[in-house]
Order: sequence, then structure tokens, then C-alpha cells
Amino acid sequence: RPPVLEIGGLSVDYGVGDGAVRALHDVDLTLRRGEVLGLAGESGSGKSTLAYAVTRLLSPPGVITGGDVRYHPREGEPVDVLAMTPQELRAFRWQEVSIVFQGAMNSLNPVHTVRTQLTDVLKAHRPGMSREERTGRARELLSLVGISPDRLGAYPHQLSGGMRQRVMIAMALALEPEIVVMDEPTTALDVVMQRQILRQLVRLREELDFSVVFITHDISLLIEFSDRIAIMYGGRVVEQAGAADIYRDPRHPYSHGLLHSFPALHGPRRELTGIPGSPPDLRAMPSGCAFHPRCPKAFEPCGLHTPPLAPVTGTGTGTDTGRSVACWLNDDRRSGES
Ligand code: ATP
Ligand code: SF4
Ligand code: MG
Repeated sequence: RPPVLEIGGLSVDYGVGDGAVRALHDVDLTLRRGEVLGLAGESGSGKSTLAYAVTRLLSPPGVITGGDVRYHPREGEPVDVLAMTPQELRAFRWQEVSIVFQGAMNSLNPVHTVRTQLTDVLKAHRPGMSREERTGRARELLSLVGISPDRLGAYPHQLSGGMRQRVMIAMALALEPEIVVMDEPTTALDVVMQRQILRQLVRLREELDFSVVFITHDISLLIEFSDRIAIMYGGRVVEQAGAADIYRDPRHPYSHGLLHSFPALHGPRRELTGIPGSPPDLRAMPSGCAFHPRCPKAFEPCGLHTPPLAPVTGTGTGTDTGRSVACWLNDDRRSGES
């Protein structure tokens, strides 16, 4: 699958000068056309920061301090997202990339009907559409996410949490973007509802052929719905691989702890509680591999040198996904080259 978004060496700080903390370090990650890329990691690992940075929605004190983000449209040359003008960004968001924010369920405007909120997006970006066309499209969008078009006149408080969430997803899909970023889209909902919404989204993805970045704390949903998974720790991607590969055979000790800290794939919902110790403090990042104070496998180089995210060969199951790991235990260059 060709890439749709290529992130290279992306770094983000919160604050400037002495007070700055680095929330993203040199993140390399590729989203491919039509795939669901799952992002996981404990609270504070930088998942939302990454989502905001690549959509250029990062607000102060957040600052992108390095790297690049390249968007590949279906036709034409790749575009540098970080160099876009405000006008280009306005077109980019919603039409090319849309984002469903963490806690978005409550971000519908309480004083406007579902119809108004959906048609406003269309009005702003599709000036050629008539009023009737906008309403028609709004009805279509509601059915797309499994809500009866009769609910068009409803106010947010008249809808269940699951329906509000689906309205948010309908808004995100309104302009048929190529990429939909979902930051914890369903956490406030019960498991059955979460699965139902995600199934709908995956089905839509097959119909409309968009890519999804799916951020969640729920490992069972992550594995069930992602094609590929990237695991973050302390602002870095520490492993990325096909979902099945990483579940069957995690290579980074942190991935192992994270993915196997719950009993069964289809078991009850569990938070990530399986790894002793706490996530690193950005103000006092451990030296070398940031995971070393908690790592059961740590050895000499770990506290001294930061392992780069490097491809691991000879793994995988014939999928075209490839795998990379940032851990000295898995560093191919040590066993390979030299
Ligand atoms: P969660 O799972 O809780 O949503 P996350 O992986 O999305 O966590 P981020 O929200 O990206 O994590 O935060 C990454 C780090 O950046 C955290 O340590 C957080 O404290 C810090 N951070 C986030 N926003 C700000 C801010 N506005 N000012 C200062 N630090 C921030
Ligand atoms: Fe553990 Fe060392 Fe690998 Fe870090 S580099 S995960 S400390 S073994
Ligand atoms: Mg977050």
C-alpha cells in the first residue's frame, strides 16, 4: 500500500527555553492508504500530541521543533504539511484530514441541531452546494453512521452518548477526507457500543477507502480494529508492526508488558495496568532508553545510549507491513552488519 502520510523525525516541545519539555522525540511513522493504524501507549506518552502536530492543530505552548510531515494526495506531488499557509491548512483540514478529538462526544454545540452542525461544515467548504443538497447530504451522512435521518432536527442532549459520538464521526466524514484521526473516540461509551461504532467505521473505510489513525487505551479494541500498531513510550515510537505480529510476538519489552497486561483478546475491557512503575516524567527523562528503569530485560547499554527505531528483519508473517523496534535487544545492526 502506498503511503498517505509520512512523518519523519517529528519533535514537539511544550514551552520554550528552560521551561520546555520534549513531548515528542524524532517520531518516524508512515500511514498507508486505506489502513487503520493504531497508536497505543500509557497516558502522557504523546499520542494526542502526535495527532495534533500532524494535523497542525497543536496550540501554544506546543511547538513543533523539528521533522517533517508529508501528505500524499491521490493525484499530484506530496505536500509538506508543516509548510502550509493558513489558507492551505483550512482546505487540508476536513477535506483531506479530519480529527475526532478525545472527549469529542461533548463538543457538539448544545444550542444547534444536528442538521445545523452537519450543514455548517458543508456550507463552509462546499460553497456551491444548495440548501437542499446540504440537507440531503446531512441525511446521507447520518444514515452512513447508522442514525435514522429523522434525527436531523434533534439537539445533542436529545441523543444518547453513542449517537452523539456517531454524529461527530459523521461530521468528520462529511467532506470525504483521506485520513480520519480518532483520538480515544469511544472511551466514554460501553464496550458493546464502542465495538458497534468501530465496526461501522471499518466498514465505511472499506467503502470509502480512507485511512484511520486510531488512538486508544483499550488493547482489545486496538488489536481487533488496527491493521498496524505503533507503540509509544515517553514521546517516542518504540515499536511498530502489523497488529497480528505485534500481538503474537511483541519485540519491545514495553510492548510485551502493554499487550500482555490483559487476559484475553475478547475478554472484558481492561486499562493498562500490567507494567510496574510509572511513565517517565518529561522533566526528568531517564538517560539512554527511557524505559530502562522499568524494563525487566535492561542490560549495560540501556542506561547509556538511546536505541534508535530500526527495522527488524526475519519477522512478520508475509504481510507487507515490516516491523521496527527501538530496543538494544532487537538491534539488527549488532547481529547483522559488523
Ligand atoms: P493520554 O493517553 O492521557 O491522552 P497522550 O499519550 O495523549 O496521553 P499527550 O496528551 O500527547 O499524551 O501528552 C504528552 C505529554 O505532553 C504529557 O507529558 C503531557 O503532560 C505533556 N503536555 C500535553 N499538553 C501539554 C501542555 N499544553 N502543556 C504542557 N505539557 C503538555
Ligand atoms: Fe529494555 Fe534495554 Fe530494550 Fe530499553 S533498550 S527496552 S531498557 S532491553
Ligand atoms: Mg491523549
